[in-house]
Amino acid sequence: MLKRRLGRTDLSVTAISFGGLPLQRCTMEEASSVLDAVLQKGINFIDTARAYTDSEEKIGRYLANRRSEFYLATKSMARDKVSMAKDIDLSLATLKMDYIDLYQIHNIKTREDLDAVLAPDGALEALIEAKAQHKIGHIGVTGHSVPLLIEAIQTGHFSTVQVPFNFIEQDPLKELFPLAKKLDLGIIVMKPLGGGQITHTDLALKWILSHDITAAIPGMDSVEQVQENFAALTDYQPLTPVEVALLSKEAKEIGPNFCRRCGYCMPCTVNIDIPQTFIFHLQYTRYGLKEAIPERYANLPAKASECIECGICETRCPYDLPIRERLKQVAADLEK
Ligand code: SF4
Ligand code: SF4
Repeated sequence: MLKRRLGRTDLSVTAISFGGLPLQRCTMEEASSVLDAVLQKGINFIDTARAYTDSEEKIGRYLANRRSEFYLATKSMARDKVSMAKDIDLSLATLKMDYIDLYQIHNIKTREDLDAVLAPDGALEALIEAKAQHKIGHIGVTGHSVPLLIEAIQTGHFSTVQVPFNFIEQDPLKELFPLAKKLDLGIIVMKPLGGGQITHTDLALKWILSHDITAAIPGMDSVEQVQENFAALTDYQPLTPVEVALLSKEAKEIGPNFCRRCGYCMPCTVNIDIPQTFIFHLQYTRYGLKEAIPERYANLPAKASECIECGICETRCPYDLPIRERLKQVAADLEK
């Protein structure tokens, strides 16, 4: 089992670990099977978030009595001290645990976010206090903006950094990862499969493992996915040039501006399921499912054409995707 040291935390975590976001799409029973498979395979690092609706609750319900088998990370979008302190206590209660190994500041998206977190009475103070009280073990930071994360880790307050990194998004390789290594931070890779867009799962994960990162945390919502991802970990070999060419071809087809299915844009004012709508569109346009998809799309409670263009979703999307424009394209293709 390939394990790596999570920087200055000194935790030894499996290089492919578990991203808990998709648990919110699972029923309680499905979540139980997935989490059971994760621990059975020996994956020992689980990452979730306050923002992933009932993901913390499911982890607490099924794994609280197996606490010694894994390290747990969660995170909060709170920016001020009082809200962060409340969220830490809420996480502990929801997870039914008395200690969280790593608590992260979730999704630093703007300069205002970073300033607020670091300011007097900002969220960081609550994390430092929680650490002193042994409620949490270490403090980390997550985000999608490489420049802001570089600034954040230079403050010296964080032990880990979590960022998207995959064959399509390689920006962190230039400055963020070398700096994180120099500062002895653990590097946690979110969206290693480009939010589900990269279909060569095993190759994509092996490509990531060939870099000096600590752990990739693909989201998994089925036992099959756990098994697939685990295979990349046990059967790790560097990629051949032919395999790299396969990934390059796929990256070119996807392009840089794609929906990662993170769901941060939700809820939509008129209840359009934005990530699901984009998935259907992708399956229709890229994978040629010309008959099945319009039928499934027709069952969605709100359609792309119902968008009232309020724009709220676009202010939340960490990738600044032109959601309104794309929904128009979806409507043109799937509602004709
Ligand atoms: S712009 Fe459209 S899709 Fe976005 S929140 Fe408003 S109604 Fe929903
Ligand atoms: S549109 Fe943006 S925020 Fe919404 S799921 Fe896709 S990447 Fe995430």
